[in-house]
Amino acid sequence: MSSLLQLNKMREYFLSGATRPIAFRKQQLKQLRQSILQYEGALNEALYKDLKKSKEEVWFSETGLVLSEINYFLKQIDDLAAPRRVSTNLINMPGKSYVMYEPLGVVLIIAPWNYPFQLLFLPLVGAIAAGNCIVLKPSEITTATEAVMQQIIAETFEPYYVSYVTGEGAAVIPEMMQQFKFDHVFYTGGTAVGKIIYRLAAEQLTPVTLELGGKSPCVVTPNADLKLAARRIALAKFSNAGQMCITPDYLLPHQSVKDTLVALLKETINKFYGEQPVESYDYGRIVSKKQFSRLMQYLHQGKVLAGGTHNEELLYIAPTLLEVTDTSLPIMQEEIFGPILPILTYNDDNEALQIIRQNPDPLAFYVFTNNKVEADDWLQQVPSGGACVNTVARHYLNKSLPFGGRGNSGIGRYHGAYSFETFSHQKAVLKAATWPDPTFAYPPYQGKIAIF
Ligand code: NAD
Repeated sequence: MSSLLQLNKMREYFLSGATRPIAFRKQQLKQLRQSILQYEGALNEALYKDLKKSKEEVWFSETGLVLSEINYFLKQIDDLAAPRRVSTNLINMPGKSYVMYEPLGVVLIIAPWNYPFQLLFLPLVGAIAAGNCIVLKPSEITTATEAVMQQIIAETFEPYYVSYVTGEGAAVIPEMMQQFKFDHVFYTGGTAVGKIIYRLAAEQLTPVTLELGGKSPCVVTPNADLKLAARRIALAKFSNAGQMCITPDYLLPHQSVKDTLVALLKETINKFYGEQPVESYDYGRIVSKKQFSRLMQYLHQGKVLAGGTHNEELLYIAPTLLEVTDTSLPIMQEEIFGPILPILTYNDDNEALQIIRQNPDPLAFYVFTNNKVEADDWLQQVPSGGACVNTVARHYLNKSLPFGGRGNSGIGRYHGAYSFETFSHQKAVLKAATWPDPTFAYPPYQGKIAIF
């Protein structure tokens, strides 16, 4: 772990001002880009070992995203970091007002195992661009990827600028957060640990970003293009074997379209992964035995409509469609985070809303409909971190959109300019003119200002 001595060195380095110049930040981002490209092969192999991700999937969901974020900052950082002039009110005239973007200091970034590279390095890029020193804590579960990332960080950065902490989260994080006052903690992971992080941060008055999970619903109305819906839902639900924070957790088709949608989903799964998904180049594996056993329990909480086969040795669970009617079962109370898709139906919108409100503030909400009024109506009815109409999870890929949860699904946002804001302090600066300096502004006031 990062010793207190090392953390103090990082603080000293930050206070030296070395990380502030934009040229320094750009240089670090360029070095990072170079290292990622150099280690691309090793990352592909490691992510295959940890989660059986194909190299194509690694590109569009891990390395490609991070490289694109680096390129974005290399182009935009001058504009983002420049003081933003704002208007000055009458009482402060003559004068000029600015919002200045100040680096926060030494920040801690904690990541989970499902996209172990991207979820650690994407916030890292924003934190570098904003001029901070950074402590990285990857997931200890995806060991092969963890080792490659450690090598990348060690070879790219000075340890007093970006450091890398290994070990079990429960063993290293609380101690570190109790001993050292971080200037920000950026955590991605489950809600239970998120609460622990929030408590630890509160003790030090450290601001947090919490990127948590939840049960993201997907509504399919009678006005939807069902073929398109089946394709897009299946892609998001079964990529990375459903271990995705913004995957559709459960499906809510209108009763009138359910049978057709299920038939189309089965056809699509077959097209994507073949008769035997266990043999598919594109189909992933569950990350660990612990997660595998947790998911197994859900298989008995509904009627299997497709899939349902599994192999513990291979950590394989087939893409599974499950008809569920009882919303009090754990499968409808807990985030599934695997390739099992419960399908419930609704007859009128209120019925669907009642099911959704059992798990309020999901990280994402999806609705399929070709009726624009209906789409807007659903967007207004369901509070969520983000949302998509007629697609699933793709909002994550647009840097112009803030990514984050609300309520149960998290606090704060990032990606692109939003990352820059997350890792900066917006300092309010007023530059006052020294002349004129009217005497009525100073006491004694009596007789100078007529208020009544
Ligand atoms: P995990 O077990 O890898 O834990 C996440 C991090 O927390 C790890 O770095 C781990 O070391 C640390 N940790 C674990 N226990 C700890 C403890 N007791 N004290 C301090 N730190 C501890 O990941 P996970 O929680 O299983 O991840 C899955 C969850 O993450 C899902 O709920 C998913 O929805 C959520 N998630 C959210 C996003 C998002 O962007 N909002 C992205 C991916 C995953």
